[in-house]
Amino acid sequence: MPELPEVETVRRGLAHFLTGYTFRSSEDLHPRVLKPASIAPLSAVEGARIKSVNRRGKFLWFELDRDLALVAHLGMSGQFLVARKDRPEPGHVRARFVLKRGLKSHELVFSDQRTFGWLSVEQLSDGVPTSALHIAVDPFDTAFDRDAVIAAMRSRKAAIKSVILNQEIVSGVGNIYADESLWRAKIHPEIAACDLSVKKIGLLVDAATQVMAEAVEVGGTSFDAMYINVNGESGFFETSLAAYGQEGEPCPRCGRPIKRIAFANRSSHFCPKCQVNTPHR
Ligand SMILES: [Zn+2]
Repeated sequence: MPELPEVETVRRGLAHFLTGYTFRSSEDLHPRVLKPASIAPLSAVEGARIKSVNRRGKFLWFELDRDLALVAHLGMSGQFLVARKDRPEPGHVRARFVLKRGLKSHELVFSDQRTFGWLSVEQLSDGVPTSALHIAVDPFDTAFDRDAVIAAMRSRKAAIKSVILNQEIVSGVGNIYADESLWRAKIHPEIAACDLSVKKIGLLVDAATQVMAEAVEVGGTSFDAMYINVNGESGFFETSLAAYGQEGEPCPRCGRPIKRIAFANRSSHFCPKCQVNTPHR
């Protein structure tokens, strides 16, 4: 599933290729691609120019020159591909757009095998589309208030891993980056957030920011001139994971095997030696 760094990589790619382009045509190719909350069909973007491509958490949007936005969520398997017209198309295409700028033309394709992703046409309030208004800012946003986020996290009695995953407190951290940042900050995933010190939660927030920034760096180099692709297989995943998916592998810090435990229909991976389940007040 794409997490914030992958979505940021996509945003950068889309911004690089499509800013200043005007939508010339649109095709809605699947009954579920348009979110029910959309205020208009996809064809509402035709004739509109892309001013910028923005992101909050995992919500991505094209800001258009008519106070409208084309909003996208990649869900589990959504991908944007930018292709020149003569390139072969991927499978599972849910929507297709042609964009032009002067004599230059690009085709933008939204493909989504599992159909949890969606597109919608929305109005903006203070530059943010309606569907993303409830999402907290993420650590890369200039409006991110580190102290307020730490205080909000510390007020919770839930397990720290649930709290760092709560998109209304801090957005963008998914299961992979939660496990990696808890490992870096040496925090057991099941400790109650209120049992952690301000300093310890600060370490966690900084670790989450750092690990996602590193992933953006890697992901940011993975698109070529023809395709922008989110597939969760950036170099970061192959080389840099210390905890996530590493059950039984030695902890890169102490050598003890990484352990996996069940967590809300998914898994948590941690080092039983470095991440001890005792309060850090
Ligand atoms: Zn360890």
